[in-house]
Formats: sequence, C-alpha cells, structure tokens
Amino acid sequence: MQRMPNQQPFEAAERFFSKTEKRGDCYIWTAAATNGQGNFYFNGAGILAPRFAYILEHGFIPHWHSVVTLCGNLLCVNHEHLGIKERIANNKGGKK
Ligand SMILES: [Zn+2]
Repeated sequence: MQRMPNQQPFEAAERFFSKTEKRGDCYIWTAAATNGQGNFYFNGAGILAPRFAYILEHGFIPHWHSVVTLCGNLLCVNHEHLGIKERIANNKGGKK
C-alpha cells in the first residue's frame, strides 16, 4: 500500500461507475444529466461524464478536443465507446 500517491481518483472512479448501468456493451449514465450528457461532480466541480470516463482511462484530454460518444448513446461512458474530436474543423488534414 505504499505506492498510492493519488488515491482520490480511484475513489472517484468507484463513485463514478456506481452511477452507471451496463446495457449490452454500454455503460449508461444513470445520474444527473445536462443537455443529454451525464454530469459528474469531482473535486467540487462538475464535469461531463464522458470526459471524466475518458480521463480515467487516458489520463488527459488534449487541448481543443472534445470527447465524443462513438456508439451513438450520449449517456454511454464506456471508454471503449468514447473518442476525441478536434473542436476546430478544417484546420488540419490529419485524421486518425
Ligand atoms: Zn456505448
């Protein structure tokens, strides 16, 4: 138990996933939602549930990127169903 420099995110993750419900491959957000997207409170601030799920998995979201739901279910927070998209279109030709 020595190497746990940052325990808070783990607790938050547990709290986060306790608010979801598995439906097929999707983890559906069942708590508060704004504009169709889940809302999660972490460190006293609200964050969109898909963003939180993405950060949990990848550690960060690149600047000027939005987290998008690829499976078509806005309330899904399964990181495998989430991707990122540049907020500014037509700027770079690169596409993953
Ligand atoms: Zn999904």
